[in-house]
Amino acid sequence: MKGLMQDWQLTTNKILEHAKRINPTREIVTRRVEGNIERTTYGDLFDMSKQVSTALQDEGIGLGDRVATLGWNSERHMASWYGAMGIGAVLHTVNPRLHPEQIAWIINHAEDKVLIFDKTFLPIVEAIKDNIPTVKSFVIYAGADTMPENTLGAVPFDIWIDGRSQNVRWGDFPEDTACGLCYTSGTTGDPKGVLYSHRSNVLHTMITMQRDAIGMGANDVVLPVVPMFHANAWGLTFSCPATGANMVMPGAQMDGASIYELLDTEKVTITAAVPTVWLMLLTYLQENDLKLPHLNKVIIGGSAVPEKILRAFEEDYEVDVVHAWGMTETSPLGTLGTLPPHMLDADIDTRMAQKLKQGRPPFGVELKIVDDEHNDVAWDGETSGRLLVRGPGIAAAYFKGAGGKVVDEDNWFDTGDVANMDQYGTMQITDRAKDVIKSGGEWISSIDIENIAVGHPKVANAAAIGVYHPKWDERPLLIIQPVEGETPSKEEIFAALEGKIAKWWTPDDITFVDNIPLGATGKINKLALRDTFKDYKLPTA
Ligand code: ADP
Repeated sequence: MKGLMQDWQLTTNKILEHAKRINPTREIVTRRVEGNIERTTYGDLFDMSKQVSTALQDEGIGLGDRVATLGWNSERHMASWYGAMGIGAVLHTVNPRLHPEQIAWIINHAEDKVLIFDKTFLPIVEAIKDNIPTVKSFVIYAGADTMPENTLGAVPFDIWIDGRSQNVRWGDFPEDTACGLCYTSGTTGDPKGVLYSHRSNVLHTMITMQRDAIGMGANDVVLPVVPMFHANAWGLTFSCPATGANMVMPGAQMDGASIYELLDTEKVTITAAVPTVWLMLLTYLQENDLKLPHLNKVIIGGSAVPEKILRAFEEDYEVDVVHAWGMTETSPLGTLGTLPPHMLDADIDTRMAQKLKQGRPPFGVELKIVDDEHNDVAWDGETSGRLLVRGPGIAAAYFKGAGGKVVDEDNWFDTGDVANMDQYGTMQITDRAKDVIKSGGEWISSIDIENIAVGHPKVANAAAIGVYHPKWDERPLLIIQPVEGETPSKEEIFAALEGKIAKWWTPDDITFVDNIPLGATGKINKLALRDTFKDYKLPTA
């Protein structure tokens, strides 16, 4: 027997339609690439987005066509999303931090027809324009007065949409229609496209609106430092208009001073970014003796949060840290570290230890951990294995079948992360499968070693990798990037590790570099490090 309720298709246009009706005066505040502040409302955004839809239709764009953006977080970028998605086109966010050759590769793979971009990226687009034949039109996020000279025949975004009809039908397709495309950064081989559907984006939005997830409301002011090209700004481009929260868009300026200024002047209550951004902000706050009186919550993810960042926010600035884990393939939020009930009265050290873990899955995300034989491991907070994930916001395959079959017969997606789980469902990542250091067949957690090393005041960044050892196969080598002007000794770093990790986890050697290489999403590029140090001779070898 079927239920007798309405068929209300889960399409993303409904999110902005709701914002227009219920919260039309709530704002999107953008720092333009020119530096000035622009204020727009959800009401205006709706109108702009409709005009984008008409502009795209006039270019011949329709159901399933790919529209690419190379853009900072801004209201114009948001209008491109909702404008493309509303008519069933696929909005493809390209990560501008990738190498231009890789950007061209991705655009060709996606067969993008329109490319809309910030003028910061004009040199990239000019450099690749002859290698991206599918792109027929170029639009630059600019007005007539701020339009840069170019050889692309590009039009300014404001002129492109100006005067266009808003009388365009949205959402006239099934909810499983493709909606957005985002490529993983390709730290392992060619980038692979994750193809979100309207349904997956709407359900991910509802999942992340839960109070133990991000849990924002109409009274919040949210600053997504995390870029829209990094897995949908962790869904904030959907959950903010869905709730009516104000958005504050940092544009191209993500240094400590610029972020502080927005947090302060816009009275931001919730913000989100990877740890490197917070390191810059905290340094700026400390140097200038500033406080964060308005901020309630900071979402930190993308890589493990170092203890000194966690403690600085919680103890020095009284900001609640929500440590989150996820990946492009999981829409992206998979777990969030809101304190569970049994931890509320625990002492500060216990609470901080809990928050260093990656958190618990909200309703709508299923996790399990398996050993090499694909058997479940105990949820004892110790036994680690491969982390599998399942749910309506999790990828079932990659665009154009890249990578072959990616889920098992029960639909579980292998994240490539290694983790353990405690009895309360708190997940702790101990490594990425490809980064694991295997010493004598046993796993050593590079993340634990790195976190402790980064806690040392003279250390700016740290990476532990496995290098060849004749007896143990692999042993850890710790690579340290010192804080500028500091020259820590090996002994100081060994002393910092002592007693905090199992003795056999202690790196066999420590080496110092000026710069630890970062990938396009701001994470340590271990592939590059493993290559650089592939012939490293450990003193113990
Ligand atoms: P890529 O895999 O291309 O770097 P993603 O941004 O999708 O792009 O990265 C997802 C991966 O980032 C996860 O599989 C995990 O290894 C790592 N990651 C994300 N959040 C965390 C976290 N809070 N702690 C540790 N690792 C994390």
